[in-house]
Amino acid sequence: MELHDSVRSVVGDRTAKVLRTGLGIETVEDLLRHYPRRYAERGQLTDLDELEIDEHVTVMAEIAKVSSRPMKGRRGTILEVEVTDGRRRLTLTFFNQAWRERELVVGRVGLFSGKVSLFNRTRQLAHPDYVLVSATEGDLADSPEAAAEAAEAFAAGLIPVYPATGALPSWKVAKCIQAVLDPLDAIAEPLPEDLLERRGLVGLDQAFRLIHQPNSRPDVAVARARLLFEEAYLLQVELARRRAAASALEAVPRVAVPGGVLEAFDARMPFTLTAGQIEVGDTVTQDLARRHPMHRLLQGEVGSGKTMVALRAMLTVVDSGGQAALLAPTEVLAQQHHRSITAMLGPLAERGLLGGADVGTRVALLTGSQGTSARKQAMLEAVSGDAGIVVGTHALLEERVAFFDLGLVVVDEQHRFGVEQRAALTAKGATPPHVLVMTATPIPRTVAMTVFGDLEVSTLTELPVGRSPITTFVVPSGDKPHFLERAWQRVREEVGAGHQAFVVCPRIGAAESDEMEVPVDDAADDEARRPPLAVLDVAPELVAGPLAGLRVEVLHGRMVPEAKDDVMRRFSTGEVDVLVATTVVEVGVDVPNATVMVVLDADRFGVSQLHQLRGRIGRGSAVGLCLLVTELSEGVPARGRLDAVAATTDGFELSRIDLESRREGDVLGASQSGRRSSLRLLSVLRDEDVIVAAREDAGALVAEDPTLEHHPALRAALDAELDPDRADYLEKA
Ligand code: ADP
Ligand code: MG
Repeated sequence: MELHDSVRSVVGDRTAKVLRTGLGIETVEDLLRHYPRRYAERGQLTDLDELEIDEHVTVMAEIAKVSSRPMKGRRGTILEVEVTDGRRRLTLTFFNQAWRERELVVGRVGLFSGKVSLFNRTRQLAHPDYVLVSATEGDLADSPEAAAEAAEAFAAGLIPVYPATGALPSWKVAKCIQAVLDPLDAIAEPLPEDLLERRGLVGLDQAFRLIHQPNSRPDVAVARARLLFEEAYLLQVELARRRAAASALEAVPRVAVPGGVLEAFDARMPFTLTAGQIEVGDTVTQDLARRHPMHRLLQGEVGSGKTMVALRAMLTVVDSGGQAALLAPTEVLAQQHHRSITAMLGPLAERGLLGGADVGTRVALLTGSQGTSARKQAMLEAVSGDAGIVVGTHALLEERVAFFDLGLVVVDEQHRFGVEQRAALTAKGATPPHVLVMTATPIPRTVAMTVFGDLEVSTLTELPVGRSPITTFVVPSGDKPHFLERAWQRVREEVGAGHQAFVVCPRIGAAESDEMEVPVDDAADDEARRPPLAVLDVAPELVAGPLAGLRVEVLHGRMVPEAKDDVMRRFSTGEVDVLVATTVVEVGVDVPNATVMVVLDADRFGVSQLHQLRGRIGRGSAVGLCLLVTELSEGVPARGRLDAVAATTDGFELSRIDLESRREGDVLGASQSGRRSSLRLLSVLRDEDVIVAAREDAGALVAEDPTLEHHPALRAALDAELDPDRADYLEKA
């Protein structure tokens, strides 16, 4: 029997069907890769405190009390069995199965499996499956086989406990695994032998046997080490292959010319570049000069000057006679980029116009909401090459949009775009264009190495000088309503001093069932919480109350693009004092005169999101103030996250906190597609060492054998992993 064989011939049709529908298991390998969640040990009962309602569980416990009584209002009896871990109790209920009393005897230990429910305030398993493991007498007439096996496993020391489903209790999974392990043929070892030796790892066959049938904890550790490394290694080999393939592509080298636009731009720049901007700028210049396409991720705090670095790269390409496209995730942001780039370039953006500089280019804007004539004009400037820079939204990706000579694609705020969209845009170059991806969401090193593993990473760590720090406070409006009054007073003071303010709400409002603009996090799970505050409710209340007399406007995602642009424009020119908005202001909005931000129901937002939001203030020279308003009192986890945001402005630290509060699948984006991630053991947060080591080894191997010609088993393993499911996980991440 081989790994890719169906399990059917071994376990039979019925069980095969349960495995498939319940656990997504079809092949022998799927089954063997269904690792135990934990191991039960002789004499160690399961801590019943840890059981969660609605979870499928397998617990080892001792029978403490057995009673049976007639059912109310119906014929038949209920058998209630209380089991214990020595401290807590759990009730098992069986209907009309009084005969089980014979085997469920006080003092017996067993594995009990079922779904935890709450009945009369006690936790119970209704109709659990079970095997008794302390059986010695031959009184288990109905399942002597199962009992004997369980007893045997029990004697062996460790009993694997599998993630259970209703249909298949843990010990039945164990039985299926046993049935495939016995007749399994020699497995082709996907990892290179010398690697195993150097890293002290066991082979795959042995790892499977040890993880499923260990005799001791060290057995489990040895197996896990191998399987964990394998996951990291396969992923890194694939990423190394992608990097190698990308760097084998031919691209047009793009080099700025003396006396060109870049030089003219640098000469008119009103400030000096930060050391980081210079360093990253040099790296990008070198990348652009190569005959292979650049694939670079530029990360840096909000306001660290990434756009400036990108603009200088775009001008380099313009100088070389090519074009650059800047892809933004929202209309507001595309319009703002267009406005600010045009402003920064000044006469350099007016080539061909009266008063335009001799050297220069044109900056076109292309968005979905444009009128037909504006859009036609922009498309014409793109295809004729008149526009050296084309800024736009998803509209840029449409098929009919073409370029004269696309040399560089800049993607702003990567997390909103998938790899496919990047690919749609790069396909518009006659030769593969260079790609620069910018993100303000700091990405921990290991995540960058996995999720963005096909990109080289540069980081801007310092903020431009003269930027003032942001001070953040949590405002507990629940216990201390006068704090909120004080917050509005601060807004009035800032406006009085000639500054501007943001008020951010989680919801738009008005519509009956309008969608949250932020993901509902665990804080929102609490029963009986009122719906989150909404822009359309809050704005009129502020106008009628605490902010009376100020010029207050709203901004949210349901407004038509012209209206959004109009409000943003009037806010940036100072005609609006207070902008009440949803998270549409999260990304890139740049109004240096805005100094205060009040986030209402701040606990409804994620940590990174709050950090992004407050990046909208303190962009000028005045001190920024961010007030996180929440009804939650201290001690609640969601409140703790707000305190963390208030305590640090280190984006990396915060993204870590954010990631830790999410599940692994969410980190990798796998759960979004509802598919199983191929990472079973590896955690991008916990296993940094393994990822780093695997990346080193993978890089070396691919450098030596780019097509894996000399490593057929490894290539086969990758091909198997890279079926659509898996590729999808890499794309969507
Ligand atoms: P990011 O895209 O990283 O959020 P931007 O490039 O938009 O940051 O820069 C934020 C603000 O800082 C802009 O108004 C920009 O003009 C300004 N800026 C950029 N680089 C510098 C610098 N070296 N010195 C001063 N201000 C700068
Ligand atoms: Mg930006």
